[in-house]
Amino acid sequence: MTKKITIAIDGFSSTGKSTIAKELAKELGYIYVDTGAMYRAITLYAMQQNYISGNHFNTEALIGDLADISISFSFNDTLGFAEVYLNNLNVEKQIRTIEVSKLVSKVATISEVRKKLVLEQQDMGKNKGIVMDGRDIGTVVFPDAELKLFMTASADKRAKRRYKELLDRGDKVIYEEILHNVQERDHIDSTREDSPLTIAKDAVEFDNSDMGLKEQFERIMSLVSSKIS
Ligand code: C5P
Repeated sequence: MTKKITIAIDGFSSTGKSTIAKELAKELGYIYVDTGAMYRAITLYAMQQNYISGNHFNTEALIGDLADISISFSFNDTLGFAEVYLNNLNVEKQIRTIEVSKLVSKVATISEVRKKLVLEQQDMGKNKGIVMDGRDIGTVVFPDAELKLFMTASADKRAKRRYKELLDRGDKVIYEEILHNVQERDHIDSTREDSPLTIAKDAVEFDNSDMGLKEQFERIMSLVSSKIS
């Protein structure tokens, strides 16, 4: 007999959390939720409304609109994962640009934004059988998750992965810009007042700077097996 559990995956930017989370969800028949996509979708909304740019941020205006912003996911069979929708429009591609990456951590410092998204994430996971990745999943969203993972890797390795991902999808990007963005987001995420990125005391840490996907997956699956059996 196996039981359904909650798997929380946190860690720094571009540590391969979502790749591992998607694989785990597929293997276990669980729901996968990319919470970063939710913060990115709110950021895209704020950009579209001209509430935020490189040098200004009208937090009050964004907070005022929060109740009317709807974020949802819909599974795409061809891609094999759930794409994110902002007010019923598919924004999966638009939220992955460097422009959104540069602003998202500022938006993620706003407590009202976090409160809204955390409640929605808790609701998605109320029946367990979920793999969720983000920055505060094991510490705030699901502090009682049966399995908590914390992913790290050197900034250089992470920036290289991200750079390749963006090049592969046809974006024109500069490596130094990506490295700077990864380091800046890590700094803002780890030092913000509300729900900073920290390792939960019962999380298992994975430094995957030099670990392939297959090895990581096998190690994590053995942890999962011990929790579900
Ligand atoms: O996971 P991803 O890199 O797409 O996340 C984008 C940003 O969203 C993070 O750098 C962080 O600022 C914010 N985030 C967060 N809490 C989460 C998930 C993401 O603050 N649970």
